[in-house]
Formats: sequence, C-alpha cells, structure tokens
Amino acid sequence: MKLFETVREMGHEQVLFFNDTNPDIKVIIAIHNTNLGPAMGATRLFPYVNEEAALKDALRLSHGMTYKAACANIPAGGGKAVIIAKPEHKTEELLRAYGRFVDSLKGRFITGQDMNITPQDVRVIGQETKYVVGVSEKSGGPAPITAQGVFLGIKAAVEFHLPNQGFDGLKVAVQGLGNVGKNLCRQLSEHGVKLFVSDINPDKAEEVKCLFGATVVEADEIYSLNVDVFSPCAFGGILNSQTIPLLQAKIIAGAANNQLENEIVHGRMLAEKGIIYAPDYVINAGGLINVYNEMIGYNEEKAFRQLNNIYDTLLEIFDISQKQQITTNEASKQLGEARIKKGENQKTI
Ligand code: NAD
Repeated sequence: MKLFETVREMGHEQVLFFNDTNPDIKVIIAIHNTNLGPAMGATRLFPYVNEEAALKDALRLSHGMTYKAACANIPAGGGKAVIIAKPEHKTEELLRAYGRFVDSLKGRFITGQDMNITPQDVRVIGQETKYVVGVSEKSGGPAPITAQGVFLGIKAAVEFHLPNQGFDGLKVAVQGLGNVGKNLCRQLSEHGVKLFVSDINPDKAEEVKCLFGATVVEADEIYSLNVDVFSPCAFGGILNSQTIPLLQAKIIAGAANNQLENEIVHGRMLAEKGIIYAPDYVINAGGLINVYNEMIGYNEEKAFRQLNNIYDTLLEIFDISQKQQITTNEASKQLGEARIKKGENQKTI
C-alpha cells in the first residue's frame, strides 16, 4: 500500500501507531477529520491477517464515521481504532495500556465498543482515560434509540415518496428481529403499520407475531413481498444483483450497516427501479447520537430530540437526489461533504 497516497486520497488528518512489548500490543488509530469536533469511533479488536488489512479497516471505518457524524448533524468527526490481537489474548493489562494511549491524545479521539470489545472492556479502558463512551448506565444501550431513528427515517421516506400514504395501513417488511428490529416493530405497530417479518431464529419471529400481530415469512421470502417498505435490520450486503430484481417495496429504510453490496452499482440499480433508499449510515445514526449525548452529559429527552436530525437530513438527501438526478447515497455524500467543509471554514476563522 502506498501509505501517504492512500491517506491523502481518503483525506485523513492523522494515523497513529501504538506499539509496545510489555504488554505486547499493536494499535492503529485513524483520525479522519476533526472539522466538526473530536474524532469519534469505536475500538475493534481483531486478529487481522496482516497489518495492511488492519490499517485498511481503520482508514475505511474512520472515513465512514466522519460522514455519519456530519449527516447526523452532531459536532464530532470520524475516527477508528483497531487493536491487532486474537480475542483470547485480550487482557486487562492490554486494555489499560490501550487506554493510556487513547488518553495521550487528550480528547482528540473518543472511543467505545466494537467487535470483540465488550461494555465491560470499555470500563477497563476507562480506568485510564475519560475519553470513552458507551459506559453510562443512563443511556441504556443504543438499540432503542437506533430503532427510533429508523422509525423517523421511514416516516421521512414515506412522506417524501408516498405522500398520500400515512402510517396507517402501511405495509412494512422487517428483516431481523434483534435488538433494533424488535423495537422498530413495536413502534410501527403502535402507528397502525401492517408488519411482515423474518428472522432465522424462529423464537424471535414467533415473539414478534404474538406481540404485534406480525405475519411471519421465510427468510428468502422477505425480499419479494408486495409491501411499501423493506427494512433490513439483520446484516449487510443484502441489496445486491440477486435480491434487487426481486424487490417490490418502494422504499428501503433499515438499520443494518453496509446494506448495498456495491455502493455505486447497487445504489443505481435501486434508483433505476424507482426505489428510494435511505442511506444506512444516515438512518442508523441513533447509536452515535446516543453516545455523543453520553459524552456531553446524558439527557434522554435531549438525545431523542436530536434524533429528529435523521428525519430532517433524510428529507434533504431525498430532495438533493431528486433535483440533481443522483442516487441517495451520492446525495448523502454530497451533503456530508458540504457540512464538513463548512466546519473547516469555521475552524480557520
Ligand atoms: P442483533 O444481533 O440484535 O439482531 C440481528 C437479528 O438478525 C438477529 O435476531 C438474527 O437472528 C437476525 N438474522 C440474522 N440473519 C438473518 C437472516 N438471514 N434473515 C433474517 N434475520 C436474520 O443486531 P441489532 O443490534 O438488532 O442490529 C441490527 C443491524 O443494525 C446490524 O446490522 C447492526 O450492525 C446494525 N446497527 C445496529 C445498531 C444498534 O444500535 N444496535 C446501530 C447501528 C447499526
């Protein structure tokens, strides 16, 4: 990898390498952009096949965080930390050494939990630094607020794309009934939505059927249902050349990360079918809004109020996409870039 060329192309401000032998630790922290505020990004611990793979992951994910924060309209930038280690080699000593490294950045980077890092691990890291989030008992985990954000995103998309169709009688297919999917189903059913659901775990599907009167369908059936909205809340890559031709929904709006297998190709395929897609990192920003609020002193009412940014931003994205005849993910990139640029101008004044 041509390191400086890559970093310049992606626009990173700084990439830090932390190395020690006692304890044996290798960490990369990528700080993509701090125009709007300190770089926020979770810590991932993973046994990468090589150091280049770890670096690529840190660069890609920190870049994504900048746009996520900008689109959520929160004063934060994008960062990411990766610890190159096997999960079984995770010790208190290692986590505390990492915490001291984070602390040395004096708040320029603020972190939380990602793959192979538990809330308890974040508490251990937090013994060495105050620059951690996701440890407050008050915010009670990100799923309910993420689900609320997705609900608002569906509302924005329906108002924009199906203006004569309110929530009452709207048909929504939800894929995945975990922490977010189940909370989303609750809200949708309270607003008179007719639910169609699938989960590979039959107990979860049965629970949502009993609680909210949802119709349960087989996992592969969910794509081809004659519904208004398809809400992917299970895993990424589900919008691809095999599934898009099957879709009958007019709106895609769900929590799963990286829903488009290929952003350009599959974003365009959806647009050509007249399907409006709520970019995943915009609609699922509730978790980020939650931890940001934790950082500034958690107030549930305020955090839920800030969620309206998701609704407003999505309407703006749909409008840009329609006026400029570009895909919604191209529009969200454009909007994020404009906000980041504005932050840069304010920074230099
Ligand atoms: P979760 O693990 O609690 O739930 C995922 C559910 O999907 C599980 O019930 C699982 O059985 C089901 N599932 C897996 N494969 C499936 C398939 N083929 N068909 C149908 N169901 C399937 O996860 P979650 O916290 O609810 O998050 C859901 C998605 O949203 C994930 O992609 C996650 O990365 C993303 N996300 C979550 C949050 C959050 O706050 N939890 C924030 C942003 C993004």
